[in-house]
Amino acid sequence: MQIDIITLLPELLDSPFRHSILKRAIDKKVVTVNLHNLRDYAAGKHQQVDDYPYGGGAGMVMMIEPVANCIESLREKTTYDEVIYLSPDGQLLDQPMANQLSLKQNLIVLCGHYKGIDERIREAFVSLEISIGNYVLTGGELAAAVLVDSVVRLIPGVISDETSALFDSFQDNLLAPAVYTRPAEFRGQKVPDVLLSGHQEQIDQWRYDSALERTRQRRPDLLEDPE
Ligand code: SAM
Repeated sequence: MQIDIITLLPELLDSPFRHSILKRAIDKKVVTVNLHNLRDYAAGKHQQVDDYPYGGGAGMVMMIEPVANCIESLREKTTYDEVIYLSPDGQLLDQPMANQLSLKQNLIVLCGHYKGIDERIREAFVSLEISIGNYVLTGGELAAAVLVDSVVRLIPGVISDETSALFDSFQDNLLAPAVYTRPAEFRGQKVPDVLLSGHQEQIDQWRYDSALERTRQRRPDLLEDPE
């Protein structure tokens, strides 16, 4: 998979891709993440990327030309499955969406700033708009890191079988079961006996029951029949 991220602050995205599972995916060449500084696509001595909003009011708006130049230049070399704009008014990111995006080959991810981007960019270039939650961030970079992490960890070969993403929360509409590691007892708190029993069938049943109980308590909405 190739992910091209268009951003005004590439430095903000340096660290998330240099650690842990994302780093391993990049090292294994399962995914390539390219950061494109929008300012490099802006014209003039000042490489202006934002301007005052028509109609007045507070805040600046990201200009159409640098974004158009950047996307068009990327498209000269690559065909993209989606051009994603991160925005609080986009479709809420959830596990099914991450699952679907993990099957794609090439993605552009556009990070906004200020009051957002000129609406005509959304109309002419963007195929999918994603929000990571009902709150407003300063810019799209942290949202891009969340999106890329949630997608890349699902690509086969990125995480090992033992930590398979299929057992994580939200797959099958269940939260993940409780987990424990050594010691078996800490200040009187004991690990459930069944997990020490070695009976795999009983352990699987306990994990399923734990996941179901947790989901009932914390997220009963996940168990509701959509019909
Ligand atoms: N004026 C916009 C509004 O009220 O919807 C908010 C703009 S926000 C300050 C600047 C940028 O941060 C957005 O263009 C978007 O790229 C990003 N952003 C902010 N909140 C986000 C969220 N919840 N999900 C995804 N991206 C977000």
